[in-house]
Amino acid sequence: MSRDQQNKKEKMDMKRIPVIFFIGVSGSGKDTQADFLIDNYGFIKISSGNILREIKKEAEGNPDNYEAGVIKRILDDGKFVPTLTIASRWYHILIDLIHKMKFSHGPKDKIKGIIFSSSPRKLAEALLLEDFFNTWPEASVFETRPIFIDVSEKEALRRLQNRLVCASCKKNFMITNKEDKPVKCDSCGGVLEVRHDDTEENIKSRFREFKEFLIPVIDFYGKNNKLATIKGEQSVEGVYKDIIGVLSLDK
Ligand SMILES: [Zn+2]
Repeated sequence: MSRDQQNKKEKMDMKRIPVIFFIGVSGSGKDTQADFLIDNYGFIKISSGNILREIKKEAEGNPDNYEAGVIKRILDDGKFVPTLTIASRWYHILIDLIHKMKFSHGPKDKIKGIIFSSSPRKLAEALLLEDFFNTWPEASVFETRPIFIDVSEKEALRRLQNRLVCASCKKNFMITNKEDKPVKCDSCGGVLEVRHDDTEENIKSRFREFKEFLIPVIDFYGKNNKLATIKGEQSVEGVYKDIIGVLSLDK
């Protein structure tokens, strides 16, 4: 490829719509950074947590829904759902977004970026997502951008032990000063509470899962030269600035 072609290709790549996969231990600030991108750039979030909560609701609303019922049971037991369960929902969400983008031209259908928050969670999910974006012809306008927010286990643990969450909108708050801790959510006025799953035992098991399932994902993207690694132990603003830089977004 000549230098001219190379430049052209790089320009084209820059214009592709980013599909961001935030990877990091819990406490690395993935959700906070995702919220910044959503607020400032109008990115769309695809949340596996929300998808699973919806399936649970379907089960509660309709006891005859076999699939939803089984998924609810798996979730209630604290186990992993089949990769295909999540992937099939992603598939339909993505097809729907692409279809809307192609056939309607209203500003609300224009996609600026997609964020998979806390996904992929294991190698099989990463492979399925790469496969989709590589093979669906009209997905070529997208570019997958895995971003690893690197935070040590020690720092993540410290943060998780100082975290409150809004009971209504699920926004996270960090307590920097115990005497002066916030009592209400500044977005919706909801009550702030300790996340019920932020027990030390739970946090430790999340770290074990990270090592078992996410390190292979990081290796996979690393081998494909796709991975961007961001130093996660700097200020929230510093992390955000680095992410903007990596994605070459206009400030
Ligand atoms: Zn709130």
